[in-house]
Amino acid sequence: MGENMNDFKALLEASVQIHGHLCPGQVLGVKMSMLGLREIGITDPRGKDRKSIIVFVEMDRCATDAVQSVTGCSLGHRTMKFMDYGKMAATFLNLRTGKAVRVIAKEESRQKAKDYFPESRNNYEAQLEAYKIMPDDELFDVMEVHVKVKHEDMPGRPLQRLQCDACGEYVQDMREVHRNGKVLCRPCADTGYYEPVGRDIF
Ligand SMILES: [Zn+2]
Ligand SMILES: [Zn+2]
Repeated sequence: MGENMNDFKALLEASVQIHGHLCPGQVLGVKMSMLGLREIGITDPRGKDRKSIIVFVEMDRCATDAVQSVTGCSLGHRTMKFMDYGKMAATFLNLRTGKAVRVIAKEESRQKAKDYFPESRNNYEAQLEAYKIMPDDELFDVMEVHVKVKHEDMPGRPLQRLQCDACGEYVQDMREVHRNGKVLCRPCADTGYYEPVGRDIF
């Protein structure tokens, strides 16, 4: 058993340690995770419950590190899925019960933070302090959702490794594309994020 799941201060400290600084995103991410885990009935995410959670994060921002810190879910464990939506939201799924909730940060909370601390020098400072004390229903919307995780997206050993017919590199977990009888990796099938420059170094 790690930190007490009810101990906001300890969880915030741990996430600041990992993230590198204290910011409104850490406060929001910690609170979002505590709420999400509570709603799906997870009490010990880093201990006995660690194989029972998957989190879908919809942003690659400060709060994402806090979600990782509180839930223990990570890309490397395949328990954190990054959905590139640019939204301040995350879905917490209990694999044992199938229960899932999507927690969305309310847009109005940004403004409301200033009402809590009208004397603060800027929005950032107001949010940092206000988010710590604002009640969950002012900070978040929570919706119950149904999430189906594909077999090839689950934690565990890779289901399959195939070689790309174009570049010769190997592709795991059914991320390949089948086209005209050929097996292609995604960058060879479409356009990748990289373009080879000149010759290989090795
Ligand atoms: Zn930050
Ligand atoms: Zn390829």
